[in-house]
Amino acid sequence: MNGLEYIASRLDAFYEELGREHYLLGAGLKSEPQIGEIYRKYRDLYTAETIRALEEALTMADGETSRRVRYLLAFAYSNYMQSSVSTLTEAYLMKEMETVVRVNGEELPFRKAMSVLQCIGDRDKRRGLEREISQKLGEMNHILRERVMCLHDIASEFGYRSYMDLYSAVKGINYGGLMSALDGFLRRTSSLYRDLLEDMLHGIGVELEEAERHDVYYLLNSAEVGGDFSRENLMPSFTGTLKKLGIDIDTQKNVILDLEERENKSPRAFTAPIRVPEEVVLVITPRGGADDYAALLHEGGHTEHFANTSPHLPAEYRHLGDNAVTETYAFLLEYLLTNRNWLEDFVGCDDAARLFLFQKLFFVRRYSAKLKYELELHAAREIEGMEEVYKDILDGILMFSNPPEMYLYDVDDGFYTADYLRAWIFEAQLKSVMMEKYGYAWYRDAEAGKYLIGLWRYGQKYSVSELANFIGYQGLNVDDLLDELQEGLAS
Ligand SMILES: [Zn+2]
Repeated sequence: MNGLEYIASRLDAFYEELGREHYLLGAGLKSEPQIGEIYRKYRDLYTAETIRALEEALTMADGETSRRVRYLLAFAYSNYMQSSVSTLTEAYLMKEMETVVRVNGEELPFRKAMSVLQCIGDRDKRRGLEREISQKLGEMNHILRERVMCLHDIASEFGYRSYMDLYSAVKGINYGGLMSALDGFLRRTSSLYRDLLEDMLHGIGVELEEAERHDVYYLLNSAEVGGDFSRENLMPSFTGTLKKLGIDIDTQKNVILDLEERENKSPRAFTAPIRVPEEVVLVITPRGGADDYAALLHEGGHTEHFANTSPHLPAEYRHLGDNAVTETYAFLLEYLLTNRNWLEDFVGCDDAARLFLFQKLFFVRRYSAKLKYELELHAAREIEGMEEVYKDILDGILMFSNPPEMYLYDVDDGFYTADYLRAWIFEAQLKSVMMEKYGYAWYRDAEAGKYLIGLWRYGQKYSVSELANFIGYQGLNVDDLLDELQEGLAS
């Protein structure tokens, strides 16, 4: 067995152990995490020597081999980086766990404070809590700063000009090109976004000019929509959607539904792809509420993608590759909540469509702002003064005030931000094609299900840009996303 085949053969074992561990921990079936041990056991997959050998192999590889080496290299770099900064990551998490936020005489653990912020109706109290959170973040930022500098140093040790250059080369993504397409999107949605935000803020008694981050999160969290988003209707609406697409999740032997209530089970739905495609677990604690529906449909998209991936693909294409691909399928099901027919069919009222479309517009703008900032942060050698850069960019694009202290907390490693953005763009393209073939209510057609299964079989072998070519586009194009939002949100 050559080096490449050896690494590939260990990938399945690594993901099986890791996936099972994540499942057991998240499902509340285990309390002592052993994730670090699993990473240590498979350390040979991502040492500096492995990276150098893969970089070397890449210069000689072509066609299929070059693709597989590239995916392994991205995997090796990302895990090598994570493990190099794991002490700092843990130090930060420890600090975060110890941190207590005091507001109005009440004491809240830091993370809890972050999550209750969006539920507080009283503006002064909410603002006070955000100020406290920001101050605590400011005190912890030195750890995150050291962590980012360490990641930047690793990129230069491997001969790259910057962290951004490394990821751009290894993932084969032109981030600058993506950003300029998004700049066009931002320009063309700016007045639509401003009008809607201003209008919605009025509903909670806040003027756009004085709006702050906490106001908008409260706004998004407190919006009420009509329709049956009860706990009882959650699973039937999900399995019913799949049935219309010709998929009977109850008879899929490789899909395990974990619905049981357990004390330490994650409140949020998640997918554990333990063995792809032989053993995929969808973990849910049904609560009800529109957000719970969105989370289940999203995770259900990941589950069906993994469960329908061809078992004959090499491990790299079943576990690695372009993450925007699986996020696209997750979004495709999640945004059924913006489809008026789907809402009528499953919750009996199409109220939620506008709210979810606005949320989509908000998140695409927010992630575009994040990417614009992350490109500045990760192209630089010096991160001094990045607080102001963060605030300027986010305030400008989102049109409300953001705390500068979040400038490192609000950053995703390895440009995952760009993967979500590419998924939002491709989801709209894929949906346009499906609507043309199967109509606006595409999910009612079992042929649409067959079409999706055909795409799911590729796993993550092809990137979203390649898949866009397969369905008749020339790569990614923001126009479909733009049309969807502009038409759906026009009053
Ligand atoms: Zn996802």
